[in-house]
Amino acid sequence: MNTQVSKNDNPATGDARPHVRVGLIGQGIQLSRTPGMHRAAAAALGIDLTYDLLDTDEMSPPNPPVADLLRQAEAEGYAGLNITYPYKREVIGSLDGLSDAARRVGAVNTVVFRDGKRFGHNTDYWGFAKGLQTGLREVDLRSVLLLGAGGAGGAVAHALAGAGVERLMIHDLDRDGAARLAREVEAASPGCAASAVDDLGGAAGAADGIVNATPMGMAKLPGTAIDPDLLQTRHWVADIVYFPLETALLKAARDRGCQTLSGAGMAIYQAVRAFELFTGQVPDVAEMTTTFESFTR
Ligand code: NAD
Repeated sequence: MNTQVSKNDNPATGDARPHVRVGLIGQGIQLSRTPGMHRAAAAALGIDLTYDLLDTDEMSPPNPPVADLLRQAEAEGYAGLNITYPYKREVIGSLDGLSDAARRVGAVNTVVFRDGKRFGHNTDYWGFAKGLQTGLREVDLRSVLLLGAGGAGGAVAHALAGAGVERLMIHDLDRDGAARLAREVEAASPGCAASAVDDLGGAAGAADGIVNATPMGMAKLPGTAIDPDLLQTRHWVADIVYFPLETALLKAARDRGCQTLSGAGMAIYQAVRAFELFTGQVPDVAEMTTTFESFTR
C-alpha cells in the first residue's frame, strides 16, 4: 500500500492489518459526508482505516495554524488529510510539492504524507471533471457559463478548461473575483478563452452549458443565481450544490427538458480520488455513492 501506516494498530482488537489513519481539517465540518464515504470504501476493501475530523470550530481558541495541525498529524503517522474551508489555500505554504491540478487551481483539498514529504492535490478538480464525464451524454462543451468564482468555482473553472471548454464566461457578484479567475484560467489553459461577464442573458444565449458554483440553491440559501427563464432546452445544466440534490436551478432545467448534472458526482469523485491517493487502492464507487446518498434519506 502506498501509504504511511501505524505499525501495531488496533492492539485492543488484535487486528494485524496495517492501520491507515486519515482525516479532514476544516471549520464546522461535523456534518461532512466525506468520512462516511472513506470508511465505507475501506470496509468494502478490508482496509483498517480511521477517518478523524480535525474541526477547528471544536478546538479551544485561538485556533492553531493549519501548519501546526499538519505537523502534528504527520508526526502521529497519518497517511494523509483532506483539507476544506477555509484552509485550502493557506495549506499550500506547508507543502513540499503540488499536483498539476493543485497548482492550476491554487488550492489543495488533499495532502498525502510520503517519505517524510507532503504532497498537495486538488481532487475537487478531478471530481468535477469525472462527474461531468460520467454524468452527461454527448454534450457540447465549447461554450460554458459558470456562475460563482469562489473556492469551488475555481476548481470547476480549471476542470472545465481541462475538459476542452473553448469559451468560459464567468459571472460572480464579486466582479473582480470573476475577472481574476478568468485570467488564471487563460494562463493555465491557453486553449480556453475566459472572461468575466455581467450580462447573464447574453452569456446564456451564447452558452452550451451552465454550471452553478455559487451557494444559491442550498437548503439554507434557496433560489437561483440565474433567472430560470434564461434556460433553454438545448442547454445542459450542472449544479455543484448537493444539499438538496435537486436545486431550484436543476428542477427548472429538468422542467425545460435540459440534460442536468447534480453536485453528487463532484462530491463523490473527490472522495474516490482522495481514497486512491491515501491508500493506493481503487475504491468501489457504488459503495461510496450508496453511503453519500444515505445522508439524504
Ligand atoms: P465560496 O463562498 O468560496 O464562493 C461562492 C462564490 O459565489 C462567491 O465568490 C460569491 O461572490 C458568489 N456568489 C454568491 N451568490 C451569487 C449570486 N447570486 N450570483 C453570482 N455569484 C454569487 O463558496 P465555495 O466554496 O466556492 O462553495 C460554493 C458552493 O459549492 C457551496 O455552497 C457548496 O454547496 C458547493 N460545493 C460543492 C462541492 C461538491 O463536491 N459538490 C464542493 C465544494 C462546494
